[in-house]
Amino acid sequence: MTEPVATEVGRDFIRDIIQADLDQGKYREIVTRFPPEPNGYLHIGHAKSIALNFGIAQEFPGRCHLRFDDTNPVKEEQEYIDSIQADVRWLGFDWGKNLFFASDYFDRLYEWAEKLIGDGLAYVDDQTQEEIRLSRGTLTEPGKNSPFRDRSVEENLDLFRRMKAGEFPNGARVLRAKIDMAAGNINLRDPVLYRILHAHHPRTGTKWHIYPSYDYAHGQSDAIEGITHSICTLEFEDHRPLYDWFIEKLPVPSQPHQYEFARLNLTYTLLSKRVLTQLVRDGHVAGWDDPRMPTMAGMRRRGVPPAALREFVKRIGVAKANSVVDVGMLEFCIREELNRTAQRRMGVLRPLKVVIENYPEGQTEELEAINHPDDPSAGTRKITFGRELYIEQDDFMENPPKKFFRLSPGNEVRLRYAYFVKCTGVIKNDKGEVVELRCSYDPATKGGNAPDGRKVKATMHWLPAATSVPAEIRIYNQLFSNPSPDASNFAVDLNPNSLEILPDARIEASVAESNATEPMQFERQGYFVRDKDSTPGKPVFSRTIGLRDTFAKEVAKG
Ligand code: ATP
Ligand code: MG
Repeated sequence: MTEPVATEVGRDFIRDIIQADLDQGKYREIVTRFPPEPNGYLHIGHAKSIALNFGIAQEFPGRCHLRFDDTNPVKEEQEYIDSIQADVRWLGFDWGKNLFFASDYFDRLYEWAEKLIGDGLAYVDDQTQEEIRLSRGTLTEPGKNSPFRDRSVEENLDLFRRMKAGEFPNGARVLRAKIDMAAGNINLRDPVLYRILHAHHPRTGTKWHIYPSYDYAHGQSDAIEGITHSICTLEFEDHRPLYDWFIEKLPVPSQPHQYEFARLNLTYTLLSKRVLTQLVRDGHVAGWDDPRMPTMAGMRRRGVPPAALREFVKRIGVAKANSVVDVGMLEFCIREELNRTAQRRMGVLRPLKVVIENYPEGQTEELEAINHPDDPSAGTRKITFGRELYIEQDDFMENPPKKFFRLSPGNEVRLRYAYFVKCTGVIKNDKGEVVELRCSYDPATKGGNAPDGRKVKATMHWLPAATSVPAEIRIYNQLFSNPSPDASNFAVDLNPNSLEILPDARIEASVAESNATEPMQFERQGYFVRDKDSTPGKPVFSRTIGLRDTFAKEVAKG
């Protein structure tokens, strides 16, 4: 990395530029925009852009527009327009009245294209897409002029109007800017402004048979809206001279300035709508909101709090050099937020039955459990102790190695909020697997402390057999097993174990009954959230994230 990310949280080179512009009295009001193309769901990379653009509008006098850059009807759908609005709101930002669509400007963009033709700055080209591509030249070689480049203004206008009227088939002709086929910047080699597309548009229907290119529409849309600081990602840096050319040649109402910042890249993650669309279409995931997806919809379903995402994008800052952020940093922010906010409950992922032999049959008692260790106002709840319980299979070993302090024959442990128990016997099935434990408890240790001061080395979570509820629990791992998955051949990097289903888990009855949409901590296991696949008979819970915090340890080690 050549440049550090923002050193001071919340301050970066873009905010510095804006502050300087305000100090010099260049603007009374700062106007930014978040300009998604509605051709997919938003991902966490977009969260960075949203937080930057809307954040600036909150910190400085100004506003932020939500503008859909809906210039390509072939790939765009109403479903995406709706999901994008829902996601921006969920992240905690609001565009108020400032909702716009590039398609609202189609008439004006068309008039401006006729103006360019009239000024001798645009022409209709009959070459095929392939011919245009081949004559564009390379980084080292200039391009070649089109044989149609010197058409008269009258002929160009006539052909362009007939393109608009729908007279020609898709791909028959395009409108190109007449700039310079020898320009060092390939974006200036007579870029395409309009293409013929007989396609239904989600907003303009069948009105148009030609659609503007993104490059032609984008800067003019900014100018129409009075955007002062047009913030985008680095790949558009080379397009800036073209955007400035349009602004210079057209009678636009304002002059936006473009500033570029580095995209967010994350380890184990691909943030490209093309890849995400393919993951959905090819059935590698269960949809855009699959909890393994880096989409906001996926993260919402997985229980990721929006505050954790906001904190994450604040911490990574805004820089001008590309870099890759460790996904552990995101997980760290999620854990921090949930540790603070999530109520504690108990869940047993892989239950092993325990019978407390010296606990009277038919007897039960209510024990008090705390809902949040750092927040007394979260209160307490009752859990029922009885003769039959479940513990975690992993918490028992018949022949434990030296450092195993949890339950094993003859060893004593604490059951959280309850008693000390000791394993007195093991019951196995005909395959030799342990299917049940026999234990004894010490009635004097109620609440989990021994009056004689003796200690145990482990405290384990558990659930009552009678009143806990069966549930399906889904554990997610990284979708890709490669820290830098290959976007052009991502299928080979998919993690075959990204979803683990535990069909026979148990959870506290209060958890099953509540319809809470916030994640809860299942003690010692992580944070879990109710999934929409739950049925009245069988709740389904997704693990938002485990408790282990490897990233923080690495950071501490340096
Ligand atoms: P993708 O590459 O995933 O297809 P895109 O850039 O084509 O994304 P847009 O809908 O055009 O998607 O993006 C809207 C805004 O979000 C743009 O300003 C874009 O620069 C920004 N953006 C997209 N991806 C990222 C990212 N990974 N990090 C930061 N900003 C991003
Ligand atoms: Mg884009």
